[in-house]
Amino acid sequence: MNNKVINDFRKMIDVNTPIICIQDYDFARIDELIEIVVGPKNVYEWNPATGRTDFKNKGSKEYEPLDAFLDFYVTEEPFKPIDKYLVLKDVQDYVNEQTSETGYLDPMKTKIKSQLQLIAQRKLYDRSYSTTVIIVSSYIHLPQELDKYASYLDISFPTDDEIKQLIDLHVKVNEYKNYNGSDTEKLLPSLKGLTCFEIDRMLDMAMSSNGTLTAEDQRMILQHKKQMVKKSGLLELVDTPASLGSIGGMDALKSYLQRKEKVIKNLGEAMSKGVAVPKGIFIVGMPGCGKSLCAKASAALFNTPLLKMDMGSMMGKYVGESEGNLRRAIQIAEAAAPCVLWIDEIEKAFSGVGGNNDIMTRMFGYFLSWMQDKTSSVYVIATANNADNLPPELKRKGRFDEIFCVNLPNAEERKAIFEVHLKKKKKGNLKLSDKLIKDTDGFNGADIEAVVNEAMEEVFIDEKKDLNIDVLETIASQTISISKSCKKQIDSMKKVFEESSFKDATSGQITKSK
Ligand code: ATP
Repeated sequence: MNNKVINDFRKMIDVNTPIICIQDYDFARIDELIEIVVGPKNVYEWNPATGRTDFKNKGSKEYEPLDAFLDFYVTEEPFKPIDKYLVLKDVQDYVNEQTSETGYLDPMKTKIKSQLQLIAQRKLYDRSYSTTVIIVSSYIHLPQELDKYASYLDISFPTDDEIKQLIDLHVKVNEYKNYNGSDTEKLLPSLKGLTCFEIDRMLDMAMSSNGTLTAEDQRMILQHKKQMVKKSGLLELVDTPASLGSIGGMDALKSYLQRKEKVIKNLGEAMSKGVAVPKGIFIVGMPGCGKSLCAKASAALFNTPLLKMDMGSMMGKYVGESEGNLRRAIQIAEAAAPCVLWIDEIEKAFSGVGGNNDIMTRMFGYFLSWMQDKTSSVYVIATANNADNLPPELKRKGRFDEIFCVNLPNAEERKAIFEVHLKKKKKGNLKLSDKLIKDTDGFNGADIEAVVNEAMEEVFIDEKKDLNIDVLETIASQTISISKSCKKQIDSMKKVFEESSFKDATSGQITKSK
């Protein structure tokens, strides 16, 4: 078990935290952690399957319901302050906040909530009483009355050394005679972000598929990770047919990504030579100028899955649910690593931070500290149109490796974008005129794509022989570009870019003019 987790847990115990929540279902690993930190003595377990259970040998006698189990500790006479720990496993159906939509509140759950509240209060105010509640469940969202007594312990995933130990143990137990030791390094990145329990399962599955364990099993592991993402419902797995070649312009951003590719594809080696794990980039820019395209092309370039996170869908209606969702989504991304995590329209999620929205401020804090401490190979690409109201912490170094700003394409870039879209229509050898490029000043990539699409349609409807430059010029002259239709917003975005220190996606220069 990772030292940071052990220390965090110990600190929570030392500062007299009444309720400690651990969102995890790898019970064997959590038992190990509890034993390391508080020892096996005076630890009392309850779970829905066996009721009161011996923490050490997992034996149980007659089934005792949770309220009866808790009753004992609520009413316990204070005699001498012995530290006791109540480990409640898999109790989400008993302790999570109840909805009152139907107007019905389960009296048993209400009783359990009051019992936990009483234990927490006695722990805080009665010097001769020291019972700590440890809730271990895959999904916890406590009612507000309990949440104020609770701290949440983040369980990080097994470290590289722990994963290596698990592989070694697996090879030894299964007596793989021909196992090639160098395959461990190759398997390691794909096993990162999984719990010990999941790693064991993966290794078992790998073995049952071909009777042994080799680097080839990586593919099967990554496939399984993709399924995990789908099942979670918190992240969307996006197809990545785009490549860097399908982006016109943005040369500086494209060459930056190409350089990162070398690190990401050889992460183990890069890290052993002192290279830091890449955190990711923040792309701020005009609408329809290819920010999403860049996120998709990056995942294709790095040959990793692309997971899209929609901050809006993280918001839940129960206390702590939104934070729990964000934490879970990040865990899933880590489990799917190596991957690109694309956070679209990040400004919509975090622009209100610091105001009255406590939930958002807490989620933002969690996100920032995760970005700051991140050691997993989750490459984050955040995209935003409006950089005006973003909290400054997000733009500070240490969170993202770089902040790029995408402006409306210049003449050369417009030509490149036309070429990309004409090539897609198999009209790549059409010669573009200076007039067309000049007349499309103020167009974004989406406008240019629309001109090409419309021109193709016109050729078909009017049964013209083939697409020619006159058709493109005529349609372009009739198109109302983004700069005209949204003049005010575009002008104000340009101003923000000029006043901020972003790296220009085209030239690589810093945008701030003064
Ligand atoms: P928004 O901020 O509105 O989400 P965006 O910057 O993410 O926009 P994209 O979704 O990447 O823009 O692009 C919109 C459409 O325009 C895409 O279909 C894409 O093909 C085309 N496009 C935009 N910019 C470029 C570009 N630089 N090269 C090629 N195509 C582009």
